[in-house]
Amino acid sequence: MAFVVKKTISGNDYYYLNENKRVDGKVKTKTIAYLGKVKKDAKKKAEEIIRKMNKVKKKKIIQIEQVGKLEKVNISIDDMTSFCKRKGFVFRSGDIYGGFSGFWDFGPVGVEMKNNLKKLWWDYHVKNRDDVVGIDGAIITHPKVWKASGHVESFNDVLVICKKCKKPNKADKNEIGKIKCDCGGDYDWDNLKNIEQMFKTTVGLDTLAYLRPETAQLIFTNFKFVYNTSRLKLPFGIAQIGKSFRNEIAPRDFLFRLREFEQMEIEYFSDPNEKCPYKFGKSWILVYSEEMQKKNKEPVKMKFKEIYEKKIIKTDWHAYWLEQEFMWFVSLGANPDNFRIRQHVSEEKSHYALDTWDLEYNFPFGWKELQGMANRTNFDLRQHQENSNVNLQIMNNKGQKILPHVVAEPSQGVERAMLVFLFDSYYYDKKRNNVVLKLHPQLAPIKAAVFPIVKRKEFEKIAVDIIKDLRKDWNVVYDKSGSIGRRYSRNDEIGTPYCITIDEDSMKNNNVTIRDRNTTKQIKVKISNLKNILRKLIDEEIKFEKAGKLISTRIK
Ligand code: ATP
Repeated sequence: MAFVVKKTISGNDYYYLNENKRVDGKVKTKTIAYLGKVKKDAKKKAEEIIRKMNKVKKKKIIQIEQVGKLEKVNISIDDMTSFCKRKGFVFRSGDIYGGFSGFWDFGPVGVEMKNNLKKLWWDYHVKNRDDVVGIDGAIITHPKVWKASGHVESFNDVLVICKKCKKPNKADKNEIGKIKCDCGGDYDWDNLKNIEQMFKTTVGLDTLAYLRPETAQLIFTNFKFVYNTSRLKLPFGIAQIGKSFRNEIAPRDFLFRLREFEQMEIEYFSDPNEKCPYKFGKSWILVYSEEMQKKNKEPVKMKFKEIYEKKIIKTDWHAYWLEQEFMWFVSLGANPDNFRIRQHVSEEKSHYALDTWDLEYNFPFGWKELQGMANRTNFDLRQHQENSNVNLQIMNNKGQKILPHVVAEPSQGVERAMLVFLFDSYYYDKKRNNVVLKLHPQLAPIKAAVFPIVKRKEFEKIAVDIIKDLRKDWNVVYDKSGSIGRRYSRNDEIGTPYCITIDEDSMKNNNVTIRDRNTTKQIKVKISNLKNILRKLIDEEIKFEKAGKLISTRIK
């Protein structure tokens, strides 16, 4: 679209007719004509030129311009680390002092994405369900909690040193004597060390206490209070999101293995004699059972219903929750082909667990645990009942007093989930020449960027009014610096799904343009409808093309 601009040189005003054009995927401003020094004459001339241009335009074939297809790019964990630093997602904690292994800080867009992720988890697992309520427990609690849970005695990691590169590493109990270091060297299995994983601290003068290594135990110790105050009946779940701390021997792979991290956990309690009343969905997933692992067979794709019916997963609750968790990721745009469920082999399973399955993700460094899900029976409630001498039994639906079982314990690290969404949304557009982070709009740190197409007071005023209004509901930014193309690519790279531009048409007809991050298609909408349309787009209630009038762009 063409527009008049004034340039003041040595105190004299000069008027030009400019136009924004997309060249190689980037929007560039080009001067079409010089309009003279007098404002009135310049306006007239401009109108005449624009009229002529419009005539020519009509003769040309009008097509919707769509930038070349987005290319999925699989990057390494190191590339993701530097991308996150460059774009303000995550920084090394204490970086100006050289960093501190296992600790990371979240930057301006990182903290927004992380908050969105936690809220979406909470909505899906707590707010939108009748049978799950939440708590927020203390990070430091009575030290006896950790004695009763078994953490004081046995929450240790086995440290082993590589004979070749001398690097320390952690070995799981089923790996002892069987694995090699990443450098190819052999480990010194004769000199293993047990390292306590809980961080110790002192409360008051000299009371020994621990930073919690998981959020779950706070759920067990509050179990009876929640039950008594929430009018819940079995089966029900208690959820919690919060920090956990583990003194990991070898923190590595960016946000994958941390010493300070956050967990989103549910302890789901039921009467083991009652069946799961919920139906299975229709999703398929790769299954890697203990038998397949021991017989060196490949994982197989199956539906959850089938996995349960064939008794590969022993309880209906366990299969149901694994599907729920998988579906949460997929509903937010994760690629289902990057997931599988893997059963713990007997040698690695915790002593209290009847059966444990991990939801795994195909990270650039291999298939790894994304979420652990154990059937813990009533082990934890029993331990706390015995150690505290408080009766933790509740009524089942037959009026009998029982200690309910935790048939499934979805336990998810916030940072590992964040990595999944970052990897699965990382695309590149050759034409635009920039990364496009195709995050689900609800996960995106910034929902919309608003900018005047050129720096003009009238445009800026409209943009500021729009920003003020949108800010009441979302995190949006006002961006007026740099070329329009630069502003688009800046937002593509941090995953902003929509860019809203203010131009001449906004002044004349109260219209704004919304540009879609994934396709670069643009629609015109009335300013009065903008908020409503944006909400529908963010909630994926409407297709972009149907949300407004598609703007045609000429292709020469
Ligand atoms: P791993 O075998 O990878 O050490 P884990 O089996 O010890 O994990 P759980 O105790 O089951 O992990 O914890 C539940 C979830 O919490 C994990 O699936 C993961 O998402 C997250 N988590 C655990 N430890 C860490 C860590 N050190 N850094 C980041 N997230 C973690």
